Amino acid sequence: MAGEVAPELAAKASGQASGQASGQASGQAPAQASGQAPAHTPDQIRATAQRIMALGESTRRPGRDPVNLPIIENWIEAIGDANPVYTDPEYAAASVHGGLVAPPAMAQVWTMMGLGQARESGDPTGVMVTTLDEAGYTGVVATNSDHVYCRYVRHGEHLSVGVSLTDLIGAQPAQPAQAAAPDGYVMRPVVSPDTAFFWEGTRQGELRIQQCGDCGALRHPPGPMCMACGSPSPKHVVAAGTGEVFSYVVHHHPPVPGKKLPLVIALVQLDEGVRVLGEMPGVRPDEVRIGMPVRIEFLRIDDELWLPAWRPAGPDEERPAELPQLVIDVSPTFVVASALATRDFTPVHHDRELAVANGSKDIFVNILTDNGLVQRFLSRWAGRQALVRQTSVRLGVPCYAGDTLTFSGQVTERKRLPDADRYEVRLTGRCSLGDHVIATAVVDVPLRQS
Ligand SMILES: [Zn+2]
Repeated sequence: MAGEVAPELAAKASGQASGQASGQASGQAPAQASGQAPAHTPDQIRATAQRIMALGESTRRPGRDPVNLPIIENWIEAIGDANPVYTDPEYAAASVHGGLVAPPAMAQVWTMMGLGQARESGDPTGVMVTTLDEAGYTGVVATNSDHVYCRYVRHGEHLSVGVSLTDLIGAQPAQPAQAAAPDGYVMRPVVSPDTAFFWEGTRQGELRIQQCGDCGALRHPPGPMCMACGSPSPKHVVAAGTGEVFSYVVHHHPPVPGKKLPLVIALVQLDEGVRVLGEMPGVRPDEVRIGMPVRIEFLRIDDELWLPAWRPAGPDEERPAELPQLVIDVSPTFVVASALATRDFTPVHHDRELAVANGSKDIFVNILTDNGLVQRFLSRWAGRQALVRQTSVRLGVPCYAGDTLTFSGQVTERKRLPDADRYEVRLTGRCSLGDHVIATAVVDVPLRQS
């Protein structure tokens, strides 16, 4: 729906369309903090959420149209993923698909509400959003999305969508909205004279480890005095940023504002010998293992704060497979055309005045477009016969009209299946404000690829 994250409060809903898609939507904090009593207290909001969750999945609602070429062509023109398996019957017939298919990233497009159409009364998302609106959490400002594509859908198939509410996170009416400012929901580290060098390092993309100025012993976390010799004069070294998982925990509860649970937190044994804690974003609990080789990355929270985190290093780490960069000129036309091509009529994607009134700098790219661009970026690298199996897209800073969006990515794992090479890819879409899209994907490249 939109492209900003301010998850003081987040309701998570999942839908079923072609395969499986789920999204996490974040509500903006009350826009007016001028002493209005909210219609619902956090406890009442949680009670409403519990009641909706107990109802389970809504009645399935069919999309407006069957999967069809004209809508696909609009989407391809706007997004730019021109694989002939979507449009050329002859090419498609000779491909792994054996016939025309729809771009998998369009899964949600087929069941989007049209312009001016209201949600049905039984839609759990509608009931939840109404409750949040009445409580002062006006407007959905972000959705992340996790897609699993069991198969590509064919032209002529008619998709329907069922929606269920699976979680509600937060419900603490927060500070008056600073629109998209991510401050306030991140637990910030305390920066002391002893640790300032460390956080200055993460800002510069360095993992700095404290070292005793006298005996040379490394220590982490930083402290005022050497545990080995008692010297009070530390310096630091820059670690290579590689190591292996020494231990880890999976955080299921309690909810962490702005974080999707479960969350893997690893204690990593650096090649230099000391151990450093960090989140493993995008890594599922069943993927992590003790001894797993990892490499540092730095997560931008804002200009001041970058958090160290860990990603799997993978077998190709010696010669990392970099995906060719994709640069998108985010013109106003691109924002509008891609929003409409994904049947997203939310005004913040086409009405500049309204977007500004809502606290945005300009109109901004919608999530369904991000899903499409992620697919385009993957497909260009993996080839026309490749199958995108899974994408998990996290939204960071908004990408406004007038900006440039640059996608880059690496292969994190490759394995040979009976009939395909399976690649796991980690990618980012970066704009002038920072990381707009952080995503992981699974792509199968058939072995009989022509
Ligand atoms: Zn020492």
